[in-house]
Amino acid sequence: MEKVRVRFAPSPTGPLHLGGVRTALYDYLFAKNKGGEFVLRIEDTDTARYVEGAEEYIEEALEWCGIIPDESPKKGGKFAPYKQSERRDIYDRYTSEILKTDYAYLAFDTPEELDAIRAEYEAKGDVFSYNNITRNRLRNSISLSEAEVQSLLEQKVPYVVRFKMPVDRILNLVDIIRGTSSVNTNTLDDKVLVKNDGMPTYHFANIVDDHEMEISHVIRGEEWLPSLGLHMLLYEAMGWEAPQFAHLSLILKPEGKGKLSKRDGDKFGFPVFPLDFKDPETGVVSKGYRENGYLPNAFINMVALLGWSPADDKEILTMEEMISEFDLYKVHKAGARFSKEKSEWFNHQYMQMQSDEELLALLKNSDVAIGSVSDEQLLKIIHLMKERATFPKDIYENGKFFFQAPTSYDEKASKKAWNEETSAILTEFAEVLESTEVYTSENLKQHIHDFAENKGLGMGKVMMPLRLALVGELKGPDVPDILELIGKQESTARISNAVNNFK
Ligand code: GLU
Repeated sequence: MEKVRVRFAPSPTGPLHLGGVRTALYDYLFAKNKGGEFVLRIEDTDTARYVEGAEEYIEEALEWCGIIPDESPKKGGKFAPYKQSERRDIYDRYTSEILKTDYAYLAFDTPEELDAIRAEYEAKGDVFSYNNITRNRLRNSISLSEAEVQSLLEQKVPYVVRFKMPVDRILNLVDIIRGTSSVNTNTLDDKVLVKNDGMPTYHFANIVDDHEMEISHVIRGEEWLPSLGLHMLLYEAMGWEAPQFAHLSLILKPEGKGKLSKRDGDKFGFPVFPLDFKDPETGVVSKGYRENGYLPNAFINMVALLGWSPADDKEILTMEEMISEFDLYKVHKAGARFSKEKSEWFNHQYMQMQSDEELLALLKNSDVAIGSVSDEQLLKIIHLMKERATFPKDIYENGKFFFQAPTSYDEKASKKAWNEETSAILTEFAEVLESTEVYTSENLKQHIHDFAENKGLGMGKVMMPLRLALVGELKGPDVPDILELIGKQESTARISNAVNNFK
């Protein structure tokens, strides 16, 4: 079998969204599963839509995800350059070649002329299409004589190169995920291949590069499926063998209907981009998974399962496992519904797999006010809080009482935990704490137990108000663990605060 080479070919028109990440991931998993190569190619021929910083963003996002290209603009490779804007001479060469065939022609129509004819059609309630019927009444090298064309070229009248769509041919299009479908060429138009500035359009540059870069499989979003007919014909025109194609279904909104859009993130409260992206024009920041506390492996695992299920329905997979199990033929035809809850579930699972030391680094990197708490202390907090944490910042958010004394007491909890005897009970218990030499969770647990027993009190009568005094509400890890962690002085100070408060 020929060498498997797969490319991810984004246009730098903005940040990569979830769908783009999934395409890149499936490209990568497929290539690596087959022992092949994964190429990143930047398709920047559409200069009008170029967004400053988007290209760097794409490279950084892939790196964060662990989707590492074998060849890319940054890394280079034997088919360099990997940016279409730097490959102009290659396209020029192939433009001359396709113009020698019967599959392309020059069109001299000005934008104004085309606008006028479009308006004419619209007035009749029709839609204009530059195709095998209309091309004969427009200004191009098919309708004009050779002498007229020559004269226009000599006058340097700008022209575009168009594809000459064959008439009434049925194309059978094969897609690895979707099977075979057919299209009649009469429904397709004469797409522009080269613009009047000499720059190729996406369609032409894309097939030239896929051929030149020896791409064996094109795996891309389903929005490109309508272009497949044209692309197959371009391969035919050039006399090249076409790669195999697979078009991935959409990622759907959480409610299951409609494409997940860039705006849905704000609407439903989850990021749709891997990393934060600041729009260079508006300054608006789109939220990223990385900055929202997602671990890259959790993110990638979640993305991989949007449209593909491994054989035994296993959900947690490392990149290596995904590579070894990935099967393009098993990618779902139906759209994949995005779930915020599921993505949080993945992150929670991956958080539990981190060592306390790894979580310490993540906690320090997240935007929380841990102040001057020592690493040793933080590690203990992490150990107690990680089980309930979905994101690194949760360790702080859910464990704020480790960092600061409560400033108020939850009303419902106070009613439940505090009555007229409680102040006396806790004041007396504070003395037990004062006299505790070895201030460890284990010892403290025993002291609470003995104290309650000696006083003939149920454990709840001591434990609940104690928790309220330490935390401000009735939640958090075991009370003796909290006592040990905040230390004797802070424990007794919090008890006396609570006693004063409920006086
Ligand atoms: N540049 C196209 C895009 O931005 C690539 C489509 C393809 O993979 O052929 O999606």
